[in-house]
Amino acid sequence: MSERIPTVDTFEPLHPKKVKAKSSDNLIHTRSFTGLYRTLRVAGAALLFLLFFGTVWLDWGGRQAVLWDLAESKFHIFGATFWPQDFILLSALLIICAFGLFAITVFAGRVWCGYTCPQSSFTWLFMWCEKVTEGERNQRIKLQAAPWSLNKLARRSAKHTLWLGISVLTGLTFVGYFTPIRPLAAELLTWQMGGVSLFWVLFFTAATYINAGWLREAVCMHMCPYARFQSVMFDKDTLTIAYDSARGERRGPRKRDVRPAEVGLGDCVDCQLCVQVCPTGIDIRDGLQMECIGCAACIDACDSIMDKMGYARGLVSYTSEHQLQGGKTRLLRPRLIGYSAVLLVMIAALVVALVERPMVSLDVTKDRGMFRENAQGLIENIYSLKVINKTQQRQDYRVELMEAEGFQLQGKTKLSLAPGEIVDVPVSVALLADTPASSSQTLRFKVTDVDEPWIYKEADSRFVAPLNR
Ligand code: SF4
Ligand code: SF4
Repeated sequence: MSERIPTVDTFEPLHPKKVKAKSSDNLIHTRSFTGLYRTLRVAGAALLFLLFFGTVWLDWGGRQAVLWDLAESKFHIFGATFWPQDFILLSALLIICAFGLFAITVFAGRVWCGYTCPQSSFTWLFMWCEKVTEGERNQRIKLQAAPWSLNKLARRSAKHTLWLGISVLTGLTFVGYFTPIRPLAAELLTWQMGGVSLFWVLFFTAATYINAGWLREAVCMHMCPYARFQSVMFDKDTLTIAYDSARGERRGPRKRDVRPAEVGLGDCVDCQLCVQVCPTGIDIRDGLQMECIGCAACIDACDSIMDKMGYARGLVSYTSEHQLQGGKTRLLRPRLIGYSAVLLVMIAALVVALVERPMVSLDVTKDRGMFRENAQGLIENIYSLKVINKTQQRQDYRVELMEAEGFQLQGKTKLSLAPGEIVDVPVSVALLADTPASSSQTLRFKVTDVDEPWIYKEADSRFVAPLNR
C-alpha cells in the first residue's frame, strides 16, 4: 500500500471554493499577522540576509574572504583556496545538500520552502515593502481598484523604488561573490560599470525584481521542480501543516462567548484569516495541497483566533497523517534512517577529503614525440610537470621519480613557489644503457614539500622506448 499522502491540485478543485483567496484584481493581497512561526521565519531570514549581504564585504588575509575567482579558476573561502582539481568536493557538497533536503522533507515536509528558500525569503521582504508603502491588505485592495491619482502614484513609486533598491543590491552582492565587490560597487556608484559585470548585475537585479515582486507564488507553483516531487517523499508520519477537520467542522461564525457544542458547530469560526494570510492564496482547510509552501502563516493566524475565542490552539498545526487519524507520529522510520545514514556517511567522507586534500598539485604531460636519443646515446622521453602551490605561503619542493631504478630524471628538480603559484617545469627521463625495459612502462613522478614532507603529490605517466634496443 502506498504511503504517499495524496495531494490536491487546486487548479482543478474537487469542490468549488467557498473562499476567495484572491481579490477582484486576481492578485493575492496577504494580511499581516504575528505569531511564533512568523518570528522564527523573520529571525531565520534576517540571519540568511545578513550572511548573504554581509559575507561578501569581509576580508581575510588581504583578500575578499569568499570569492569565486572565475578568471583564475580559484575559489577562496577565508584561509582556504580551492582549485578546479578540488571541484569533486563541490559535487560531494551538493550531494550532501540534496540528501539533507530529502531527510528534512521526510521528517518535516516543506520547511525549506517555508523558512529558508531564497524565493520565499525575498517574497516576504517584498511583501513587507508593499505593506510599508501601500498599507494593510484592505488599503492595498482599495488602492488597486482606485483610479490613478497623486496618492496612488506616490505609493506605487515608493514601492517600486524599494523593490528596485533591494534588487540592485541583490544583483551587486551576487556578482560580488565572483568579482571583487569593492571595485565592483565603486564602478556601479560612478556609472563606470560595463561589459560582463554590468550584464550579470542587471540580470540578477531583474531576476530578483520579477521573481519576488511580480511572480511570487507562481514560481513555487509552476517553476520550482521541488514543489512537484516533494510529495513523493512524504509518508504518514511526515510533519505537514494541516487543518484538523474532525475538530473544526462544521465550521461557522458564532459569538465569542458561545461554546461550539451549543450551536452544533466545530471550532472553526470560518473567519478566513488562514486564507487571507496565505502567500499562495490557498485554503488549508481543503487539505494538503501542492501549492502549500509550509510557511505556517495559517497556524499563526488560526492560533490568534483560537486565543480570542478562548479555544485550545492547534486547529491548524504541524501534524502527521497518523496523528490526525488518532495515532502517534513515528519519528524513526526506514526512509528517514536511510537518508540520514547516507547523509552522515557523505559528511564524514567530505570531512576526510577536506582534511587530506593535497596542498600541492602535480599534473604530468608527456611530450607528443615518442622518444629520442640524447647526446650520451641514451633513450629519453620529455615531460612537462605542472605544479601548483595550493598553500598561502611560499614553499620549496623536491621533484623525483618513484621506484624507477635504471631511469634518470634530468631538469629542474628543486622548486620554490609563491602562494598559489603555478609553474610548468620541462624535464626529461633517460633510460640508462644497461637497464632492461619494455617498449612502454609506467613512471611515477612525485613532488614533495621540503619542509613539510607529508605534503606531497604523485602522478603517473608513460615511458616509451624502441622495441629493439
Ligand atoms: S496553507 Fe498555510 S502553510 Fe501553506 S502556504 Fe498557505 S499559509 Fe503557508
Ligand atoms: S483561521 Fe482558523 S478559525 Fe479561521 S477560518 Fe481558518 S481554520 Fe477556521
